[in-house]
Formats: sequence, C-alpha cells, structure tokens
Amino acid sequence: MLAWSAGYTRRAVASPPEALAHAPLEWDTPLYRMAVAQFDQAVPVAGIPEDIAERLRFPERSLIVSVPVRLDDGQRVVFPGYRVQHSSILGPTKGGVRYDSEVSLGECAALAMWMTWKCALLRLPYGGAKGGVRCDARSLSPTELERLTRRFTSELLPVIGPQEDIPAPDMATNEQTMAWMMDTYSMQRGYAVPEIVTGKPISIGGSVFRHEATGAGVVMVIASACTRLGWPVEEQRCVVQGFGNVGSIAAAELHELGATIVAVSDVSGGIHSEDGLDVPALQAYVREHGSLEGCDAGRRISNEELLELDCDILVLAAREDQITGENAPRLRARMVVEGANGPTSLEADAILDTRGIPVLPDILTNAGGVTVSYFEWVQDLGRLFWTRDEIRAKLAEKLSDAFDRVWDLAAERETSLRTAALVGGIREVSNALEARGIFP
Ligand code: NAD
Repeated sequence: MLAWSAGYTRRAVASPPEALAHAPLEWDTPLYRMAVAQFDQAVPVAGIPEDIAERLRFPERSLIVSVPVRLDDGQRVVFPGYRVQHSSILGPTKGGVRYDSEVSLGECAALAMWMTWKCALLRLPYGGAKGGVRCDARSLSPTELERLTRRFTSELLPVIGPQEDIPAPDMATNEQTMAWMMDTYSMQRGYAVPEIVTGKPISIGGSVFRHEATGAGVVMVIASACTRLGWPVEEQRCVVQGFGNVGSIAAAELHELGATIVAVSDVSGGIHSEDGLDVPALQAYVREHGSLEGCDAGRRISNEELLELDCDILVLAAREDQITGENAPRLRARMVVEGANGPTSLEADAILDTRGIPVLPDILTNAGGVTVSYFEWVQDLGRLFWTRDEIRAKLAEKLSDAFDRVWDLAAERETSLRTAALVGGIREVSNALEARGIFP
C-alpha cells in the first residue's frame, strides 16, 4: 500500500507503477507496521485529508551507517547504526539514541513516528526522530562505548544539528553518552554547542530534573488518571516492569506518593513482595551492582510471571512488545501504563479494551522526557537556566493539559485513550502540513 505508486499511476509517468508498488519497504518490520496500523486507526477519528495522511505514513529521512570500533583487546568490529527522522514539519526532529541488540531501521522508523505524535500532542515545536546502534552495550567497556559513541556521532554529522535533529538518551545510553556526543559535535564546530543534545550532565548545559523527568511524568499522568477514576493513589498496588531510568524513577515517585510497589523487574528477572518493596533500597542495590541480579529483597519471579501478577497498576517501563494477544487475556491489572514505547501490541490493545482495562498510552504517558528535553534545549539556546521547582511545575502544567485533552476526546468520541492521544498529535501535524503545503 505504497500510495506514492498511486500518484505515478494517475500521472501516467514512464516508470511502471508496479515497480514501486512491489518495491520492498525498507522500514517494513512488525514494529513499523504496528505504528502505521495505530495511525490508520486514528486517521478516521482525526478527520484529516487522505493525501496528508499518506505523507505522514513514511519517515522523511533515514540514514544507515556502519560504525567501526577498536575494542580494548585491539580487535576491530563494525556495528550497524541508524537515524530516522519522521517529520520536520513543526520544527527540528527530536528523539533518543539506543544501544541494543534489536535496533533496526524499522524499529527506529516506528519509534520516530511515535515521537512525532508525542511532540505534537504536547505542543512542542519538534518532529520525531530515533536512532541507535545495534550492539550489546552490556558487553562493551566504558572506553569501547566512548569510541563507539564518538564514531557514531561523526557518522551522523550530516543530519544532526540544534536546528535540525537533536538526540537524547534512550535504552542503554545516558548522560555520559550525551556528553561524548556533545563533545564530538562541538569539536567539529570549534566551540561548545550544548544545544546539540539533551539529557546531558548539568555541568555542560544539562537541565536539572531531566534525569527524573520521564519517570516523574509517568506518575503525574497516573495521578491524573486516578483522580478521574476516583482511585486514591496511596491505595494502589503497583507492579513495575523495567528498573532503568524510567521504571526506577516511576517506582520511586509512586512509593513516595504512598502507593505500594509489590513487584519490579529488569532484564535479570523480577522480585515480588505482597507487603511492598523498599524502592530506595532497590535503587541503592542497582547503583552498587548494576542490576537487580542477586537481589533477595523478595521472592524471585520471571518477567512473564510479573506481568500477570494481581495488582491495580501495571507500569511497563522496559521495552516494546511486552503485552501481546497471548498474555493480554491473563493480565490481572486494573490499569496498564506505558512508560516504555510500544509495549502493547494492537491485538493486546483490543483485548484490554474489551476487558475494560484502560491503557495510558506511551505518547502521552512517557512524554515527560521529551518535554523537559525541550526545556533543556530552550535553556541552552538562551544560556539562561531555570530551577528544579520551575521545571517540575512547567512539566506538570504541560502534561495535565495534554492529559485533559486526551481524556475528554476519548470520552467524547468513545475511543481508546491511545486513539485519542494519536488524534491529538496527528491533528497538530496535519494542520501545519496543510498550512505549509508540499514543496515545491
Ligand atoms: P534503561 O536502559 O535505563 O532501562 C531499561 C530497563 O528495562 C532496564 O532495567 C533493563 O534491564 C530492563 N529490561 C530490558 N529488557 C527487559 C525485559 N525483557 N524484561 C524486563 N526488563 C527488561 O532505559 P530507559 O531509558 O528506562 O527506557 C525504557 C523505555 O522507556 C524504552 O522503551 C524507552 O524508549 C522509553 N523511554 C525512555 C525515555 C527516557 O527519558 N529515558 C523517555 C521516553 C521513553
């Protein structure tokens, strides 16, 4: 369903339409198909013109690079790297960089498309991008990661820039990764360019509260939903999958609000205690040991068991494709919260909808990260820095405005919260694209 081939048919140009219609779509992977299918479900509700919708089904630009790295033992290896920019209609593109063994062009294309809707829903002047390197980051030493990051950044130089595309941390990348990216970019320019990345250390222009922003934002959205549903937050029993940046902060913020965290997990497996886990102690354990492996704070369980525990709120903060048509019927949570991007499959969405389990969708729920990234970029451009309280208050205001629009639209149109969130984002981009027109 490559409609640009339909355009060729109509104009009867020399190239045979079949050639394009049958050309493989380079981004075509299950995750990209899922992002397009979600978009297609939202388009009729959004009521946008089909030619505009067609433009938005495809990323504007994709770059594939190969990244040679000298390992500590002298061996040289080459890693595939990607950057996909979905839409620059509203402003520079923005999106994370992940180091993971499953990074692919299609994964980046799906994540870039979701970033476009997320930024637009939050009314940030950005489009979506995503990138990464296919590697097992845990098997690389800090010096190997530094060389990998610096070389990857130089390969991206033709497509990134403070007014073009601004990277940020994602899975297995962090403030240090952003510092290396900022330094590599600045060395090429000859002066410090802090606004090239967000999520960097405060000492080089990072923003206070960026580190906590995504997890804290997840909990702000949960609190808003609990208010609408009449559920007191302090009475909720929560399970959190993923105990990295997003999951550990979300668990800590929920714990601070008085909720009971009955289980958490990371790639090494899960820990369960009906009486509630001591989240700050778990955070200290992970700081010391690198993961939850070996932690005996509760009963050890598998990630599969964790997802099916009896609880009120299940926070997914690990990775995509965790709730599927297979396990969705067995979920015992009263609400599912997407801290990660794309953790619920289309099939699972439909099952949860039928079962009356609300899903707080990723593009709303984890938008705290990109919102505070936007605040960081604005502060860097203005060389004027705000306090933690100012940033937290501005984030709360942005998220609560987006939450109200999504909740009210879902009620008005009787759609899922996901479709309502997508409609909110898609309409912003569509209006801008209609106003700008298609060049030339
Ligand atoms: P991270 O690398 O800091 O943490 C990921 C966590 O998930 C780790 O604890 C890891 O061990 C765990 N994990 C990985 N695979 C797992 C599995 N199969 N089962 C259970 N746990 C598993 O990454 P992060 O920055 O916290 O990102 C997590 C998710 O949130 C990703 O989908 C990312 O795209 C999304 N996200 C992150 C941000 C951000 O600001 N960091 C913003 C928006 C969305």
